[in-house]
Amino acid sequence: MISETILDSKKIVIKIGSNTLSDGEGMLNRDFFMNFTSQVKRLTDMGKQIIIVSSGARIAGVSTLGKWKRKEDLHYKQALCAIGQVELMDSFRRSFKEEDLLIGQILVTRDDLSDPGRTVYIRNTLFTLIDEGVIPIINENDSVSVDEIKIGDNDNLAALIANLWNADLLILLSDIDGVYDKNPKEHDDAVIQETITDIAKLRREISFGSSGSFGTGGIRTKIEAAEKVTQYGIPMILACGKHENIISSLIDKKEKASLFLPG
Ligand code: ADP
Repeated sequence: MISETILDSKKIVIKIGSNTLSDGEGMLNRDFFMNFTSQVKRLTDMGKQIIIVSSGARIAGVSTLGKWKRKEDLHYKQALCAIGQVELMDSFRRSFKEEDLLIGQILVTRDDLSDPGRTVYIRNTLFTLIDEGVIPIINENDSVSVDEIKIGDNDNLAALIANLWNADLLILLSDIDGVYDKNPKEHDDAVIQETITDIAKLRREISFGSSGSFGTGGIRTKIEAAEKVTQYGIPMILACGKHENIISSLIDKKEKASLFLPG
């Protein structure tokens, strides 16, 4: 079912979580970028259109500076994101260039996506980039957003973008290969939920554990994202971006993941 869903989708939004982009030491994982790029290339060669929503500005900032990891003051966090966003895009630009793929950056805040006028501009820019063969990479503008005006997590941002673009599919790449009945990092006997058609029921049946150190929303925001897109008839896949060639493996039916289907 997952394989068919990917193959049948032309417009795909792919969101990458911070823990997926980074290695165990909290540095940007260069191998991930190279491998991810080759997967995007395979998808574009298949005629698919791709929008990327990428987290990781803060971790890229820490990775560049080698300090401020534990600074909790807002202005330090925002400064880290300002430094890291450039580094993050540089990593994308360099690896995508190897495959002759061009990228464009769009940074948004919650206000941008709740204002109908600005939404139209974002939509037009996205369509123009894609029509011209450029891959948009979107992130929340963390250097200018404070909690009160934030979308807060890129799972929900990716869902809003999928709805705005009228995507055929949203793929969330995380450090986990799906939703489990309980946190698999804490429970060896956790069971993966492979196909989900009733999200309200899933919410009642699973327990939400904590997330990794650089993740923001954990499994809760992934389920919120699934709710947002499936309401608009868009399916969502949650898969493990840490596994090499994950999207290809899903197409080739070699990996498991969770698939949320519209009701
Ligand atoms: P990302 O950085 O990809 O956005 P997060 O770290 O925020 O990811 O969230 C994914 C994490 O959520 C997993 O690594 C896992 O430890 C945790 N988690 C908690 N409860 C569950 C659950 N029921 N099923 C799957 N993962 C869970």
